[in-house]
Amino acid sequence: MRYSALQVLRNGLTGNKSWKPVWRNPTPKSHYDVVIIGGGGHGLATAYYLAKKHGITNVAVLEKGWLGGGNVGRNTTIVRSNYMLEGNMKFYSHSLRLWENLEQELNYNVMLSQRGLVVLGHSDGQVEALARRGTVSVMEGDDGVLWSREECRARMPYLNHDDARFPVYGALMHQRGGTARHDAVVWGFARAADMRGVDLIQNCEVQGLRIENGKMVGVETSRGYIGAGKVGMTVAGRSGQVAEMAGLRLPIESQVLQAFVTEGLKPILPTVIAFGMGHFYISQSDKGGLVFGGDLDGYNSYAQRGNIPMMEHIAEAGMALMPMIGKAKMLRSWGGINDMTMDGSPIIDKSPVENFFVNCGWCYGGFKAVPGSGDCFAHLMATGNPHPAANRLLLNRFETGRLLDETGNGASPNLH
Ligand SMILES: Cc1cc2nc3c(=O)[nH]c(=O)nc-3n(C[C@H](O)[C@H](O)[C@H](O)COP(=O)(O)OP(=O)(O)OC[C@H]3O[C@@H](n4cnc5c(N)ncnc54)[C@H](O)[C@@H]3O)c2cc1C
Repeated sequence: MRYSALQVLRNGLTGNKSWKPVWRNPTPKSHYDVVIIGGGGHGLATAYYLAKKHGITNVAVLEKGWLGGGNVGRNTTIVRSNYMLEGNMKFYSHSLRLWENLEQELNYNVMLSQRGLVVLGHSDGQVEALARRGTVSVMEGDDGVLWSREECRARMPYLNHDDARFPVYGALMHQRGGTARHDAVVWGFARAADMRGVDLIQNCEVQGLRIENGKMVGVETSRGYIGAGKVGMTVAGRSGQVAEMAGLRLPIESQVLQAFVTEGLKPILPTVIAFGMGHFYISQSDKGGLVFGGDLDGYNSYAQRGNIPMMEHIAEAGMALMPMIGKAKMLRSWGGINDMTMDGSPIIDKSPVENFFVNCGWCYGGFKAVPGSGDCFAHLMATGNPHPAANRLLLNRFETGRLLDETGNGASPNLH
């Protein structure tokens, strides 16, 4: 069923009775050309692009829970491409361009809102670094505008400008950045992949990988063995565990990141704002809640919930930046498991096991990557070659030392 204004009207007038389920509920086949492990944003997008761009439709996405129950349904939905290192910049730029046409591509409203993302600078040095980042973005065909101290004050009067411990010296505005509706992205890719014949199989946990003579031949699941020509791994925080089934040790640690939302307020925050002196970022959802987050909880864990000290730490950062936030009541908080790499950048690559491909290490930045990652991973799985936009996101950078360390923090996954 193709969605259109006419469909909405017709269903509205007839009691919404003729909507069809958005995807099928198929029984797993005994063999697929491609099996994707993990039904989050990256897995679904990969399946979609395999079918759409490469004509590979005998594909299954195996999800141990429900589609979108992982990080893709738990993130703070920020979409941007203001990276500075070439390997990252090209990839995120590619991804943002795919976002900009995603609603037409999927025939699904993913509610992309390019409301702009403002990164604050709190010293002359920080503003200079922002100017450099913005210049690099503009030179690469992306966008970036530097706001002066006065402009910041005029545009964001609700920030603590005068008596702040960290006064605002300026900011970099990335106008094409913003937010999207996370669930809608999942449902849109799931529907579009299903329409092209991909089997989306929920409640199907991969518990083992079958490798014969160094070659991946299938997966052992909670619903039986499924043979596969190729297997792709897109399991985010569980990457270390699933790769271990293939005997691989990835340069990844899994850590919890929390997010928070307040009660609904009248519109106050027209953009996304990132604090420059602490890890704190905030936006306002379409329902009015202030959505914010900050640092990782700081220890390795597979628990999808967070700790109270980090909640306090993040609330403190919010208060330092924007004291009015103290009046809002916090409604909910939750956590997701992030696959943090040693340089903070992702991995889209073949693995040493033939026909086993890995897509992981998205840290806390993988939501914005969903379309780009799906496109590049599908390209790699279909052709055997890295997509030009992702040809620096390879595993061997951890051998050669050509790391993509955007924040310059070294091999400290919790600091990226
Ligand atoms: C609190 C929080 C805030 C974030 N904010 C942002 C943000 O603002 N912007 C941004 O760009 N990124 C953000 N991120 C990061 C982003 O959400 C992730 O990088 C991205 O969603 C990961 O990719 P995914 O969607 O495929 O992962 P997931 O949705 O986690 O998908 C992986 C799936 O694999 C399944 N799985 C795991 N093991 C198995 C198995 N053995 N068998 C079968 N299935 C399995 C899981 O159940 C899960 O559904 C945030 C993350 C968190 C936790």
